[in-house]
Amino acid sequence: MQELTPLMQQYLSAKEKYPDAILFFRLGDFYEMFGEDAKTASAVLQITLTSRNKESENPVPMCGIPYFASESYIAKLIRKGFKVALCEQVEDPKHSKGIVRREVVRLITPGTHNPDQPKENSFILSLYNRQGTIGFAAADISTGEFIVYETKNAIEDEIARFEPKEILCPVSLKSNIHFQQASSSIFVSYIDDWNFEYTEAYRTLLRHFRVASLGGFGCSDMDIAISAAGALLSYLEDTQKDITFKKIFVFNPSSFMFLDSTSCRNLEILHNLQDGSPYGTLLWVMDETLTPMGGRFLRNAITKPLLSLSQILKRQDAVEAILQDYELMEELKIILGRIQDIERLTIRISNKTAGPRDLLALRNSLINIPSIKMLIAQSPDLYLNEIGDGISEFDPLVSLINSAISENPPLNPSDGGFIKSGYSKDVDELRDVSLSGKEFITRLEKQERQRTSIPSLKVGYNRIFGYYIEVTKPNLALVPSNYIRKQTLVNAERFITEELKEYETKVLGAEDRLKDLELAIFQTILENIRQYEKSLFNSSMLIATLDFLYSLAVIAKKYDYVKPIISDDDLVEITDGRHPVVERLVSRHGISSLNDRFIPNDTLMDCRDNRLIIITGPNMAGKSTYMRQAALIVIMGQTGSFVPAKSARIGLTDRVFTRIGAIDYITKGQSTFMVEMTETANILNNATQKSLVILDEVGRGTSTFDGVSIAWAVAEHLAGKIKARTLFATHYHELTEIIFSVEGAKNYNAAVREWGDEIVFLRKIEKGPADKSYGIHVAMLAGLPEEVIGRSKAILRKLEGSGFREPAAAPQLNLFFPGDPINFELLNLNADSLTPKKALKKLIELKKMAQEMV
Ligand code: ATP
Repeated sequence: MQELTPLMQQYLSAKEKYPDAILFFRLGDFYEMFGEDAKTASAVLQITLTSRNKESENPVPMCGIPYFASESYIAKLIRKGFKVALCEQVEDPKHSKGIVRREVVRLITPGTHNPDQPKENSFILSLYNRQGTIGFAAADISTGEFIVYETKNAIEDEIARFEPKEILCPVSLKSNIHFQQASSSIFVSYIDDWNFEYTEAYRTLLRHFRVASLGGFGCSDMDIAISAAGALLSYLEDTQKDITFKKIFVFNPSSFMFLDSTSCRNLEILHNLQDGSPYGTLLWVMDETLTPMGGRFLRNAITKPLLSLSQILKRQDAVEAILQDYELMEELKIILGRIQDIERLTIRISNKTAGPRDLLALRNSLINIPSIKMLIAQSPDLYLNEIGDGISEFDPLVSLINSAISENPPLNPSDGGFIKSGYSKDVDELRDVSLSGKEFITRLEKQERQRTSIPSLKVGYNRIFGYYIEVTKPNLALVPSNYIRKQTLVNAERFITEELKEYETKVLGAEDRLKDLELAIFQTILENIRQYEKSLFNSSMLIATLDFLYSLAVIAKKYDYVKPIISDDDLVEITDGRHPVVERLVSRHGISSLNDRFIPNDTLMDCRDNRLIIITGPNMAGKSTYMRQAALIVIMGQTGSFVPAKSARIGLTDRVFTRIGAIDYITKGQSTFMVEMTETANILNNATQKSLVILDEVGRGTSTFDGVSIAWAVAEHLAGKIKARTLFATHYHELTEIIFSVEGAKNYNAAVREWGDEIVFLRKIEKGPADKSYGIHVAMLAGLPEEVIGRSKAILRKLEGSGFREPAAAPQLNLFFPGDPINFELLNLNADSLTPKKALKKLIELKKMAQEMV
């Protein structure tokens, strides 16, 4: 067996601790990978696989990448689902005796990798469940956010809320089917359950946030969330060199409208249904933010619309104030456009991972603050004034950066040369020495050329030999005797002299010392800036809010939106409402083959006479668009935005539920009908009188009789029991009869005109039920072969002529359904256990139900 070299021993002991990561082993200017890691990395990164000890019996596979280009390679590995452990040289090779010490300084995982989207958070989510409650902790190491909360909501919805890049969870959750489904496309790091142990977790939080109790953060009684948070924090502390979190933020789900993952997906809030990109989404229309943190604020705001009337009104008024002040809007556009990611820059400064260019970026952002403050101080809007007052001024910080950092600094502070002259006497002195040394070299070259009469003589420098004099081969005879030969090249020889070496020591020593000194000064500057950390974060948050409000004002102006009246009642009344996204697509590309402009429609809903809106009409007529438009207008309104309509009243809505279309769930082991029913069950179990429910077909995935029965019962339950405002599109014409038995139900239809054999979609939603389905017309439009269309028409005529009725005609339904809920109540009643008083109460209740059914 071959003896391992000390280097390979060092490699193997590092690798042993990170068996599931690809270990990047720093050797000089390269990261090398060995063994299986090398094989994997070379295949994924398309780099050459070589081997170490080629001649030996067991050559070790090996590949490498240059250190300076590592970021793109790391990003590629992370995207492909690998973890990368960075094993760095942790001492200066110049000062090391024997082999340089190396340690893994950082484990890079999807949740801890540098975010590539400035306007998106990059969360790592930790979760822990106990007795039906899930404790969550979400951290974004690039912005310093650390959020905790507990909930009984479905895991899937909570995961969708944060869209984490990585999930950290106990091994015991691995077999949980809901968790498996919810996290199937996300990188999951399983860790042993004991990491979530409460006492240790609590201690970790106290230590990191330097507090004696968690009471100040308002989470001291959230045992399950604390377990999740503690585990997350130790994971991050173990794997990252530097992390800083601002504070623990307790998220209160009940302060926001709850958009579950299905609704977010169906309504295409952040991702479109085609390829998951933002194109054609609500975010795509609404994002006019100019700063990265404003972009993150907006993203967050539209997935968490507000429930507090006063907060919504505050935002609305501020948007209106910007909208009405042309100059303010134009000025904000210029100024906000100059502001960079203050939040992420501050985190890098706190973590000491910032470079000199980051400080200039910070300065370039902060110098705009006085203009922002002045601008919004003049506004009549109190919220804007409040934002302006809250943003700090950073004059001393700007002066510090101005006086210390030169204008074109290197990326890396250890490269030196960026501390401005005049800032430090020591730096200036060392720089003089090093400069004069350089002048000496230039002088020497000139002098030696004259002395030797070799005009091509050059004084050069390389890392191995230091300074040298190079003489081309034809001139070698002219070389003086004091030249000492050092290196032979193909066309030249390199020499040194005593004098040259003496100066080299002086110059190089000075340069090295200068670099060390600049680095030390830079660290002190970072330390100084840290004292502004809190006000930097706070100001960054306020600028983000301002940018968000600005963005809302821009879309309101650009797309002619109106300020909705938001109230605490149940009325949703929209005049000439438009779908914010379809409207844009139609006007951009005329995507609707039959319309080149968007046709507005009205919506009227409340919890009384208009609580169940049944919409019939052919395919392609615009039913889905109409329903989604109502949901999006409500969401936009509660975000504080103006909305696409002529006028709108929005009664505060606690949740928007959607059940739309069929998504392919085969890979998740569920049939389409099963998914449809699960989603419907979720709505029936969770909707309240304050909810808005969008049902685009229910019961289509089964036989017609079953389907109509389910659709009818669902509609009846929503309108009768829950009294939620519901928009229900259906191809079951039988359902239009429901208005005769369910209070508050109304029929609408998406209008079409027949034109000979063809139909024209009017895109107008009119009162009353549709007269027929037009399925064959739409099939014709879709290009079904003429033969098939002809045959369908013949069969339809035959069916109609034979008296074949579509199942469950209205009168039968009326007989069949109305007694049902009362029957159900009676069958479930335990009469023996009722007191006379309770029995009477029940009787009155049943009578009332019967009256409602008539
Ligand atoms: P199906 O029953 O097949 O789901 P549908 O009735 O729900 O069809 P939609 O999907 O809403 O029809 O609309 C079809 C297309 O019609 C949309 O993609 C859109 O391009 C266009 N459209 C819908 N509503 C309007 C409108 N109000 N103005 C202009 N074009 C519209």
